[in-house]
Amino acid sequence: MVIFVTQDPECLFCKIISGAIPVDFVFQSQSVVAFNDINPQAPTHVLIIPTIHVENIADLAQISPEVTAELFTIARGIAAERGLVGYRSILNTGADAGQSVFHAHLHLIGGRSLAWPPG
Ligand code: 5GP
Ligand code: ZN
Repeated sequence: MVIFVTQDPECLFCKIISGAIPVDFVFQSQSVVAFNDINPQAPTHVLIIPTIHVENIADLAQISPEVTAELFTIARGIAAERGLVGYRSILNTGADAGQSVFHAHLHLIGGRSLAWPPG
């Protein structure tokens, strides 16, 4: 199996991982980090991302099912820490789905009642 351990110097989230753009990390491990979204859509809006540069969650699932699963495990942990009654995990994949940063990320959104269906 080929393992991609890459960073893209042009990628916003790679710059956050490297510390070039400072953020307050909510969670940090070798494989995954989490930080607050700059434009929160709810009282909790955390981005949970792999430390390797991969364009989207579908590619991450191919490359590393383990790290993909970690994103969800960490989302559960943060939601539990904060006592969220429910939360939404959002994985925008591709431009038509609203993906604007092409480094895989899970949006953890909660802390208020959320409408369905999404727009
Ligand atoms: P997407 O639209 O790709 O699913 O989500 C990208 C998210 O990254 C957006 O919710 C946006 O607010 C967030 N974002 C964009 N630039 C920054 C930044 O510089 N810092 C942080 N913390 N979040 C950012
Ligand atoms: Zn990146």
